[in-house]
Amino acid sequence: MTSIQTLQGIGQATASLLEKLHIFTTEDLLFHLPRDYEDRSTIIPMNQLSVGRSYLLEGVVQSVDFPPGKRKSMAVGLQDDTAKVTLRFYHIYKNLTDRLQIGNRVRVFGEVRVGARGLELYHPEIQSVTPHTALPKTQLTAIYPSTEGLTQPKLREYIKQALQQHSDHLPELIPAQFHNGYALQQALLYIHEPPISANMQQLSQAAHPAQQRLIFEELVAHQISLLTRRAYIRQIQSPVIATSQTLAKQLLAQLPFSLTAAQKRVSKEIAHDLKQDKAMLRLVQGDVGAGKTLVAAIAACHALESGWQVALMAPTEILAEQHFLNFSRWFEPLGIQVAWLSGKQKGKARAQAEQDIASGSAQLVVGTHALFQDNISFAKLGLAIIDEQHRFGVDQRLALRNKGEKGTTPHQLVMTATPIPRTLAMSAYGDLDTSVIDELPPGRTPIQTVTIPLERREQVLQRIANNCREGKQAYWVCTLVEQSETLDAQAAEATYLEIKERFPDLKIGLVHGKMKADEKQSVMQAFKQNELQLLIATTVIEVGVDVPNASIMIIENAERLGLSQLHQLRGRVGRGALASFCALLYKTPLSQNGYERLAILRESNDGFVIAEKDLELRGPGELLGTKQTGDMGFRVAQLERDNHLLAQAHHVAEQILKQYPELVEPLLKRWLPEAPRYAYI
Ligand code: ADP
Ligand code: MG
Repeated sequence: MTSIQTLQGIGQATASLLEKLHIFTTEDLLFHLPRDYEDRSTIIPMNQLSVGRSYLLEGVVQSVDFPPGKRKSMAVGLQDDTAKVTLRFYHIYKNLTDRLQIGNRVRVFGEVRVGARGLELYHPEIQSVTPHTALPKTQLTAIYPSTEGLTQPKLREYIKQALQQHSDHLPELIPAQFHNGYALQQALLYIHEPPISANMQQLSQAAHPAQQRLIFEELVAHQISLLTRRAYIRQIQSPVIATSQTLAKQLLAQLPFSLTAAQKRVSKEIAHDLKQDKAMLRLVQGDVGAGKTLVAAIAACHALESGWQVALMAPTEILAEQHFLNFSRWFEPLGIQVAWLSGKQKGKARAQAEQDIASGSAQLVVGTHALFQDNISFAKLGLAIIDEQHRFGVDQRLALRNKGEKGTTPHQLVMTATPIPRTLAMSAYGDLDTSVIDELPPGRTPIQTVTIPLERREQVLQRIANNCREGKQAYWVCTLVEQSETLDAQAAEATYLEIKERFPDLKIGLVHGKMKADEKQSVMQAFKQNELQLLIATTVIEVGVDVPNASIMIIENAERLGLSQLHQLRGRVGRGALASFCALLYKTPLSQNGYERLAILRESNDGFVIAEKDLELRGPGELLGTKQTGDMGFRVAQLERDNHLLAQAHHVAEQILKQYPELVEPLLKRWLPEAPRYAYI
């Protein structure tokens, strides 16, 4: 393997910048793949733009003005035959204003963002043109993931050198009979420096065989890593935990209902795992409201009764707090000490919690990510339960695993309400065994879901107000385009103020991710106790929050969320016996695909069906669906897009492990240099 410092222009300083990108050798450099391409040779119609990408646009200046605002800016309306965009400038100078006179035709190149006036380009490059100005004939230019201080041209230059000098030394790590026949070296060349004939559309959808070749190799490497991890886990020692004889019975005796058949079956599977001296690593999937918490509590009974500590972790404060309340209510009467640990807890309370965890006097610990932290040490952790798994990464799971007593690893139970299509589960959770709670507790009435254009928001608002006056409780969920807690919080706040002013007789609450934990908690508590009739919220209420009396949910801009996420959100209602109602407000015009997606929610209440459809419909161009699988650190593969390759990749991974074990390490090194090497611990 050749050090990158053998390349021209790379000294110590550049080398350390490259290291930040995990590039240490020329091979790493060759596998540092473009995240996108720039096409400066094709003019794109303005009605075909996606946020976050750069385009060459051509149009005529329609308007120039200087909107009021904190920072002086110039807004230029540029129009083509299809639509309009705004060019925004904060640095204004004469040469600029000269070229951007009303009626002038210009070509601009820049990244599209969402601004105050819809789609905007900030400080694009500008060229004055006539309708006959020829287009530049240029290759597509690769854009790489980079880091501050390392420009795109420099990165391109280093990669060019690496391609010229080193690409023919690259070993092929997938035996030829297993892939599409495209040679590795050719594939890399095509991807880094596409020829003039290359098709932007094809490349940006990763549909070219060169890309497919690399995607497949990456998926194979990933599968190998999961399979080796699985094999490794299969031989880890964990405490043998006997099935609870008294605690579980006492717990169930307190409840006003009995377990569903599915809860019983899954509980049995868990009890069976815990009896082994090998680590359990089990994923419990169950639709919203299926009753996963209780299954977790029964699992906790086994460990507690055998004298082990149990940790239960949830991804948000609200959810963790709710679990803490439930578990305290269930377990404290049974003589179990339940402790609370969150990142926001400070001072004495924190020190006390840490001490109780370390001494073992806290038998059951409920908390957030804080439980992962290095300074938290458990006296005798036997079982770690993680709720709403999709918010946590594999590494975090591992961090908790390592908190067992010296020489032992706690059993791990992972719960998720996001039904994971089988194909995805294979890749995202290939190292876990899975159980499915495929039955809802009796007495639930299905949620009636309707889709309503945003134009009718006013009517919806009036109706909700009336419903609230009649004693019902409702959620009003605000979402925004960008995945930003701050912006979502602002939107929720604005809606809150608006509705409060309009309906002064209603008791309205607000909850969003930017509020302090105790504020959120007290608002949620008030809502739960029916002191609030309407709760304005962001998607922070998405997971697990349980208010049985709330029966109405409105989701604004529903088209912006992924189907599974919408399904989760709507699962907040319909938890009690009340007939429930969910309105999905969407912004018009909505694409055909967008309509179809929302219609699925109207027609189905089954999270698994919805997840499969979501996967099917979410085309590669779909920008607004949220990532369900989280960032799994793929370089070229994308699970939603490439899931059709997964089964084959899984098969090839098994073959390589069997027939070509010498390829395993170099493959992992090439594609997952950062992943811990479970197999070699
Ligand atoms: P989720 O699977 O979404 O985490 P929860 O565990 O929060 O669901 O359970 C949802 C609601 O259903 C809770 O109010 C819980 O008490 C109730 N529940 C759980 N199991 C049963 C059951 N077997 N019968 C009736 N209600 C149940
Ligand atoms: Mg839950």
